[in-house]
Amino acid sequence: MSNAKVDRREEIEELARRRGFLWQAFEIYGGVAGFYDYGPLGALLKRRIEAEWRRFYGIGEGFYEIEATTIGPRDVFKASGHLKSFSDMAVVCKDCKTFFRMDEAIDIDKRCPECGGELVDAGEFNLMFQTKIGVPKGESEQNNSTGYLRPETAQGIFIDFPRLLRFNRDKLPLGVIQIGKAYRNEISPRKSIIRLREFTMAEAEVFVDPGEKNKHPGFETVKEKVLRLVPAEGAQEEKSLEQAVKSGIIANQYLGYHVARVGEFLEGIGIPGDRLRFRQHRKDEMAHYARDCWDAEFFSNRYSWMEIVGVADRGDYDLSVHASFSNTDMCVHDGPEKIIPHVIEPSFGIDRIVYALLESSLYKEQVGKQKRKVLGFKNEIAPIKAAVFPLLNRDGLKEKAVEVFQALRDEAILVEYDDSGSIGRRYRRQDEIGTPYCITIDYDTLEDGTVTIRERDTMKQVRVPVAEIKEFIA
Ligand SMILES: [Zn+2]
Repeated sequence: MSNAKVDRREEIEELARRRGFLWQAFEIYGGVAGFYDYGPLGALLKRRIEAEWRRFYGIGEGFYEIEATTIGPRDVFKASGHLKSFSDMAVVCKDCKTFFRMDEAIDIDKRCPECGGELVDAGEFNLMFQTKIGVPKGESEQNNSTGYLRPETAQGIFIDFPRLLRFNRDKLPLGVIQIGKAYRNEISPRKSIIRLREFTMAEAEVFVDPGEKNKHPGFETVKEKVLRLVPAEGAQEEKSLEQAVKSGIIANQYLGYHVARVGEFLEGIGIPGDRLRFRQHRKDEMAHYARDCWDAEFFSNRYSWMEIVGVADRGDYDLSVHASFSNTDMCVHDGPEKIIPHVIEPSFGIDRIVYALLESSLYKEQVGKQKRKVLGFKNEIAPIKAAVFPLLNRDGLKEKAVEVFQALRDEAILVEYDDSGSIGRRYRRQDEIGTPYCITIDYDTLEDGTVTIRERDTMKQVRVPVAEIKEFIA
């Protein structure tokens, strides 16, 4: 059985569009770059990734989840540094007036990729979307009524820190998570869902006593894990987490622990370990708030290495600036001692993870004279858990199939029903959307109450009594 990975460039995007995973937003109006809609299967896939993430951090790490607003007043982003520093350099084409990010322009050799015209410096662009909160009453209120769509979910957590600390009975460490939309007015997004203007982030902010950063209580459980690391200076190397922290490549145990856990999460949902590495930011690419940052990068056949998660040591930057701008005490009081906690932040780009899963899951193989295309999702991630088919639409098979289909739905299992076309075609349809099991109702079902269950990857078929289907596919 051949198992050639698909690398034809358009193939993933074509399949994602045709099967209802991802659609260009506002398509009937010509679309707008940097905006995508999730179709029915895409939305299911995304929710399943988010559910695994919540399980991993919410239950696994014991972090609390909050839901902060997506719009914030100007003061917040003045304090956080985003007004001043959250920007990209742009160039513009002299002929067609199209704007490009400076770093893209370097890739494209300083000629316009649209018309071949000359590109010239266009200055710095802030990437936040600006809006108005309420109706400004006059000139002087213009500034006060200016708001911004959040460029990261993190700020909502920092601002609520005094309340969160009290909620946690004034104790560190304290982990808080959030999943939600964030917005960046990218200069020239052209890469499918890799660079979006509206996207979903899943972020954890872990507040820790700076004196305890080398005493993570869970470090022992992950220290043996071998990581593929690309330090800011030096070549790629494989090192155990323990060696990486001991030799100072990764600055401290807390940061290292979360780098390793990010790797566990990504492999856990089905991203192949051999297509993952951790790359440290160089000083000149580090965000304004970061002291150290490691990106989990996925190797894409289409886009090469791309960031899908960032793990940053934000130090005391955020709490310090908000304490000073808002005149609020953000310290933890430990007897006479006042501590400003440090923040370790794993920050996941959920849309990029969706893309990475689609690309790495898709494979093609020859079966007899037929070619089949398969999304080999893990069961936990697969949008549809099983499909139910009647072998034929007569002799009571259809009625029996509908009954089995309904019984599985009553057990809260997401199943699909399909009675159109040949069984072979129905299998191929489910393979292409990554459904792990297909259940066929045939004449034996009417006789002895068993069904045929066919497993997606092996294509093996087994007979299972109707009453045991639920257990089998769980
Ligand atoms: Zn041009």
